[in-house]
Amino acid sequence: MANRFKSPRIYQRQSRTFEIPLPIKIDSLTEVMRIRDVGVYIHWTVLLIAAIILLNVIRHPLLSLLGLTAYLSVLVIHESGHMIAAQRLHCKVFSIEIYPIFGFCRFETPWSRFDHCVIAWGGVIAQAIVAAPIVLYVSIFGYTRFQPVNAVLALLGFFSLGVAAFNLLPIPRLDGSIAWGVIPETIKRISSGNRKSSSRTY
Ligand SMILES: [Zn+2]
Repeated sequence: MANRFKSPRIYQRQSRTFEIPLPIKIDSLTEVMRIRDVGVYIHWTVLLIAAIILLNVIRHPLLSLLGLTAYLSVLVIHESGHMIAAQRLHCKVFSIEIYPIFGFCRFETPWSRFDHCVIAWGGVIAQAIVAAPIVLYVSIFGYTRFQPVNAVLALLGFFSLGVAAFNLLPIPRLDGSIAWGVIPETIKRISSGNRKSSSRTY
């Protein structure tokens, strides 16, 4: 999901690609990492569910830990896609928040409706970039002999593509409700002959 917030425009300074803010302070939203200077926050319910899962699976701890990490990675990859698209369009990104079954990328109001559509596509495109080679690899060579590795491949590959497809449904609150607007917006741009607008049109 992608959330936009109104705020004054601030240009991105040169940012670090990946950081872990130590010490990690547990809160209702806990900052667990920073990607391109944007804080990634995990909601407490995710930590609780993760703790319950890990405490209850004594027989397959590695499988559970990797499975859980891969599942949350799908959400982080998706929101990072929104973030990269927003930053490329000079749109300030405030945070990424991860909840048990969805995430939020919070960013300021995009410059135009077209830009907002592109940002909406960013999430599923990021997922597809990671998932497509995995799905291709598994389709050709099959799964490995190692269950934990297979769980990661299945989650980052097939599951992620399924989530991406679901996200593109034109339903309110899903990316599909904004993303498909790229078609009429592109037609509008071509017909007006105005390929790149320098002023806010949102
Ligand atoms: Zn999204």
